[in-house]
Amino acid sequence: MLSVADAFDLLAQHVAPLPSADTPLSDLLNHRLAVDVVSGVDSPPFDKSMVDGYAISLADDSTELAVLEQVIAGGVPTQPLAPGGTIRVMTGAPVPHGTDAVVKWEDCRELAPDRIANPATGVAPGHCVLKCGTAFRRGETVLPAGKRLTPLDIALLAEIGQARVAAVPLPRAGVLPTGNELVAPDQPVGPGQIRNSNGPMLLASLAAAGVPAVDLGVARDELAALQAAVQRGLAECDVLLISGGVSAGVMDLVPGVLAELGVREVFHKLKMKPGKPLWFGVRDGDARRQYVFGLPGNPVSTLVSFRLFVLPTLATLAGAPFAPPATRRGVLATTYAHRGGRPTYHPCRLVERDGMLPQIEPLAWRGSADLATLTRADCLGVFPAGDYELAAGTEADALPL
Ligand code: AMP
Ligand code: MG
Repeated sequence: MLSVADAFDLLAQHVAPLPSADTPLSDLLNHRLAVDVVSGVDSPPFDKSMVDGYAISLADDSTELAVLEQVIAGGVPTQPLAPGGTIRVMTGAPVPHGTDAVVKWEDCRELAPDRIANPATGVAPGHCVLKCGTAFRRGETVLPAGKRLTPLDIALLAEIGQARVAAVPLPRAGVLPTGNELVAPDQPVGPGQIRNSNGPMLLASLAAAGVPAVDLGVARDELAALQAAVQRGLAECDVLLISGGVSAGVMDLVPGVLAELGVREVFHKLKMKPGKPLWFGVRDGDARRQYVFGLPGNPVSTLVSFRLFVLPTLATLAGAPFAPPATRRGVLATTYAHRGGRPTYHPCRLVERDGMLPQIEPLAWRGSADLATLTRADCLGVFPAGDYELAAGTEADALPL
């Protein structure tokens, strides 16, 4: 059986970013830039006032200043500052030629509607004036290729007039739970039935990761139904997340259906607990490659597989270099006994401590179907294969959830 590390290697070999596309601002959130963005403008584009006030020349020693005109944001001064004169400027308005500083309205004394006492005493040059190009200059790279765009980055693109930019699209992920026993969360359960918790969990996990999701409904364990649902998923998505039906039971039809539909198996079954039955494959279409995960049906196995393998795959499709999820070093809060030939990802709580490694507190976990314990966990303790007992205080790794 393949190790978790082997599985990461295979993912790194098979998963590549989606081809970049020219994308409008309104669609760019969380997309990674495919190019460096170079500004075509200075920022700010002119010397502007930072306050509502009066533009003055510090060389002017007149005791009174005549208000020559008023400039609002969006307007431009029609004249330079002349000796004995000032211009009233609103926040964001260009200051007139000859301006050394702007003095806030509240700090000036009005002598008449169009005259003020010269407020220059003690005012430093440049006061309340934002000089052209203070933030950046035309020709500067303002956003580097590969950056995942935040709302602020999008604002910056708007500022420099870059209404479209080349970016890696977000993958679309389809969610397809399978199983005859599954009923919808709002339905009563009959004998032998359970509610579909993986579907809502996967859809929410994708939303949390900022990945567009397609709800493909629930497929019954029947060849025709499964085939139709997988076909729809392949038609609409870059990545298909199927849950259930990948173990060795008589109703585990997923690998066969995928093979028939041209999805090539890359790996099936990993040396790990939970999550052993995980299936991964790719389908090379005319224009693009698609990716299919068959996630084991037990909810905790589904979540662990999602966290370990699906999230890094989605990140790579969206333009990041492939990287296995990063673990954190901590110390065990209690003893931990491990048994068995597979490494275990055990639900734990991570307790932060000032200036020390965090504590990893294993929770009393009742196996792959125990979703309730997982809701109290914020990490997975990573424990290597073998039969051993670790004392409290032993260092260990944890994978934040
Ligand atoms: P399977 O991988 O199909 O053999 O399913 C393994 C276990 O997970 C079985 O006990 C299933 O009933 C359960 N299971 C499968 N799919 C789901 C789901 N969508 N939500 C909750 N439990 C599930
Ligand atoms: Mg099943």
